[in-house]
Amino acid sequence: MSSEKSQFTTNLEDIEHFSTENYTARKPQLVVLHYTAGSDKSSLEWLAKSRDSGVSAHYLIKGDGGIVQIVRDGMRAWHGGRGVWRGLSDINSLSLGVEIVNWGYDDVHVPEEVDRSSCVMLSGSPLKWFPFPEEQFRSIAELLVDFKERWDIQPSLFIGHSDIAPGRKVDPGPLFPWERLYKEFGIGAWVEDLERDLCFVTLPQAGKEILWTQLRLRDYGYGCPLTGELDEGTQAVVQAFQMHFRPSLIDGKPDVETRLILAHLVDLYCYN
Ligand SMILES: [Zn+2]
Repeated sequence: MSSEKSQFTTNLEDIEHFSTENYTARKPQLVVLHYTAGSDKSSLEWLAKSRDSGVSAHYLIKGDGGIVQIVRDGMRAWHGGRGVWRGLSDINSLSLGVEIVNWGYDDVHVPEEVDRSSCVMLSGSPLKWFPFPEEQFRSIAELLVDFKERWDIQPSLFIGHSDIAPGRKVDPGPLFPWERLYKEFGIGAWVEDLERDLCFVTLPQAGKEILWTQLRLRDYGYGCPLTGELDEGTQAVVQAFQMHFRPSLIDGKPDVETRLILAHLVDLYCYN
């Protein structure tokens, strides 16, 4: 090889620089919702004040609905960890993270003095979940409407931490009001009519239900195993799906209703 430089190569120190006004900050594509499993105070400490926590989020929604911005929208907050959605794995680079003050489910991590009287059990789970107060829900909705308008976030790209990391994460949990967000504010994806015609999806043949479910979960965005068997990983994904789209029964089993909701979601949001 010749040691002389070709006229077509440029050393990095020779790069020319120009500027333009024709650019903007990169656009977030996903919104990932979380609960903090803490109080207002401990959540803010964890997300904003502790150097060692290694986590952050763009926004924190306090118990009374107060909104705190911690990281600017155009920057990369550290809230997703390991996870995947629609084949994208660097979720933090692509998303806005919203942490919601909520204890999640009743467990040893919840201090004695916390009021548990409003906790709710759901079929298919032994846990008692903390609901989201109305004023907090309204703040979340307003913020997400603002995201949708400013950043043009597509419906199926408003997701929960459990959607990108099934089995590892359960937040924002099955009481998070995805249905109300859709019906009252037009945010996120939802299936209103299970009777509508499916245009682009064929339902499973008898005996092929599990593989069909795994393929459709992948189509919709989940990082689902493709084994044809209801293994532990698949059950975790099905349960994450149910917590988001069919919270009345969250047992991780892909029953007929679960499959039908999934088929409609793929038809409504993946092929249009
Ligand atoms: Zn989370």
